[in-house]
Amino acid sequence: MKIKNISAPIFHNLYRNKHYQFVPKHEPCNPDSISLLQDFVNKYSKVFVLTGAGVSTESGLPDYRSKDVGLYDRSPNRPVLFKDFVSKIEVRKRYWARNFAGWKLFSSAQPNEIHKFLSLWEQKGGIHWLVTQNVDRLHHKAGSQRITELHGTSYLVKCLSCSNLFSRDLFQVILRELNPDFNVESTEIAPDADVHLNPELTKSFNVPDCEKCGGILKPDVVFFGENVPKEKVFELYEKVEKSDAVLVLGSSLEAWYMLNLMLRVKCPPPGVMQKSGVEAGVILII
Ligand SMILES: [Zn+2]
Repeated sequence: MKIKNISAPIFHNLYRNKHYQFVPKHEPCNPDSISLLQDFVNKYSKVFVLTGAGVSTESGLPDYRSKDVGLYDRSPNRPVLFKDFVSKIEVRKRYWARNFAGWKLFSSAQPNEIHKFLSLWEQKGGIHWLVTQNVDRLHHKAGSQRITELHGTSYLVKCLSCSNLFSRDLFQVILRELNPDFNVESTEIAPDADVHLNPELTKSFNVPDCEKCGGILKPDVVFFGENVPKEKVFELYEKVEKSDAVLVLGSSLEAWYMLNLMLRVKCPPPGVMQKSGVEAGVILII
């Protein structure tokens, strides 16, 4: 399906919008690179799109690795490890207190031009499937439906014992009832809704167990040290094999399964387009 008519004004907009805040700092986008992307969009009709934290920075959510603005470059804080979360109550108290303080800011983030474009492209029939490493639900907010959240979502809470699943917004109400005097809000946020708080503040934070079985409650997010479910990865292998091209946006592709997905594309050797705009091919990485 030709989507030339919808993509041209959108890319033109991205290039020209003076109010568009580019994060992290970089040189102005090269018009040749935009043309290259435009040609790619026009040429392929069953594109597999993979997005990482870089697509959400314009929505006010930082990524992990960008110089100066990424979480790892600004702060010594690191995401909680799965084994620590499940084995130590003090870690769960700290995690949920920080997540509670950051939820209002994190959940108010809105999709930016990239999310909106991908949703529109899907409506026009150009996207076979979209997989995101992000847990921020911004693709959903923009209207994307053919999507897999590889690392889950911060918008759901899950019991590790009985798989009871419910909304994070509801959990915010429960946490508020259990912690009526905890009045800390943050203006700084991490890609997973974490914020930094004085450790003393978090020690007395009350965290409930699952009301059905007493199990541990955890956001429905794949933590560091935890594996993406195999079934989910196998489903994506099928999706990518039925696609005719791959577009990677805002991901450093450091996770091994991302590289595996790329290697399963049955097509000519991939080209790579980066900020310097070197080559174009079946796989575009931006
Ligand atoms: Zn349970």
